[in-house]
Amino acid sequence: MNTSRTAPSHRVVVVGGGLAGLAAGALLADAGAAVTVLEQRPVLGGRALVVQQKGFTLNYGLHYIVGGHASPHYRILKQLGKLDAAPLTPVKPRLLHRMRGGGLFHVPSTPLDLLTTKLLTPRGKLGLARAAVVILSADPETLWRVPVGEWLDGFAREPSLRTFFLDLVGPLSFEADPEALSAAHFVLAVRPLLMPKGPIALYPAGGWIRMFEAFKAHIEEHGGSVQTKAGVERLEIARDRVEGVWSDGVLYPAESIVLAVPPNDLAGLLKETPVDGLGPERLNAIRPTMGVAVDLGVIGLHNEQIGTIELPEMNGTLGVHNLFEPSLAPQDGHVFQFLRFMTPDQMADKAEVDRTEPMILDVLEGIWPGFTQKIAVRRTLIRPMLTAASHRFDQPKPDLLPVDVRTVTGLYLAGDATASAGELSHSAGNSALTVAALIRARAGLPR
Ligand SMILES: Cc1cc2nc3c(=O)[nH]c(=O)nc-3n(C[C@H](O)[C@H](O)[C@H](O)COP(=O)(O)OP(=O)(O)OC[C@H]3O[C@@H](n4cnc5c(N)ncnc54)[C@H](O)[C@@H]3O)c2cc1C
Repeated sequence: MNTSRTAPSHRVVVVGGGLAGLAAGALLADAGAAVTVLEQRPVLGGRALVVQQKGFTLNYGLHYIVGGHASPHYRILKQLGKLDAAPLTPVKPRLLHRMRGGGLFHVPSTPLDLLTTKLLTPRGKLGLARAAVVILSADPETLWRVPVGEWLDGFAREPSLRTFFLDLVGPLSFEADPEALSAAHFVLAVRPLLMPKGPIALYPAGGWIRMFEAFKAHIEEHGGSVQTKAGVERLEIARDRVEGVWSDGVLYPAESIVLAVPPNDLAGLLKETPVDGLGPERLNAIRPTMGVAVDLGVIGLHNEQIGTIELPEMNGTLGVHNLFEPSLAPQDGHVFQFLRFMTPDQMADKAEVDRTEPMILDVLEGIWPGFTQKIAVRRTLIRPMLTAASHRFDQPKPDLLPVDVRTVTGLYLAGDATASAGELSHSAGNSALTVAALIRARAGLPR
């Protein structure tokens, strides 16, 4: 963390106040740049929007930080000295469950759990060690264009073992068709689970809003500004060099611009100022992971043990979030979020989309009879969830957007549509780290 202030001279405008934009802005402000973040909506957070309702805090977007202390989010907060302002607490493995064939199982997280789990047959358990060796020694770079289903057939044919591995990565990838994930994505996602160092996941205490507020505070403490209701309409580029951005008729001059917006918004932003290599065909070819999210606040339920349930047969996952962060629910309350990952065909079928809420309520009634009567808050939303992390073999990481737009000096991209390392929101966090390092080096920033 840098606390000294020098007169900043390198002006950076960040477009987008989601995870990637705010993290990049905070890192650059820390490095000594004069940072302005412009967010079109009235609130910060982007897809990680947080809403308060009847005493419940509903995170409409992301919750868990998979990867624990190796995650970019942990590293960024640590570097900025903001872990006190936005603490990240370890997820307790005993709360993690999976539903298969109507039965509820603990997700095994230790070698002993693996030996005793009923998710694997005795033959599956015998094959596990050999399969783990293949996964740990594989070179992901050679596997980007191989579907994981096909790859597993080579060394994990035993049905319970194959299902076990696909179930491990399905909920982490948000993909409706886990068999079609790139085997490279699978290897990178499963390795930390097979050899965990520290907690397997972290949970932002107080919800994600604390993290966004910490980034905003850091930018402001270093002389920068974060503005909401400040949509950017177009870029000012002259002789292949950025000059600034236009928002509401005002030019914000900049030597560097970070566009931290998803591909659809990027296409709109670049309509009037086309940039080589970022044409509409390229941007529209990036397919987001889509799905339906059901958020529920319930009162008067007894549950201290079930924090998550993966539901691979429904292509979904359920979280009971106050068990990770009690402040999210009022006294005697619980906050649930069910995410169902869907294919484009399913999303186009309204009846299929509408089936989501009754589907999950059925499951919840089966576990807690009378559940539906205890619901105090309910909201079902159709959402684009992730951009890059679809990670299918036909849309592998290397095909995603570059962080460094080499055709225009001073133009950078950030966000989960970039080809940055990591799963889920890690691409957003990692792209922020990369972009900040590039600008710091090129602009010769003081810190
Ligand atoms: C329901 C759900 C659950 C999720 N769960 C998890 C999870 O548990 N763990 C995890 O790691 N990830 C999770 N994710 C994924 C995670 O939310 C995203 O990867 C991450 O938030 C993406 O951040 P971003 O900054 O790249 O993009 P965004 O959050 O989309 O931010 C982009 C911002 O740019 C703004 N913008 C766009 N155009 C303009 C413009 N012209 N001018 C100004 N501003 C503009 C937008 O309004 C937005 O605020 C989840 C997502 C969803 C939807």
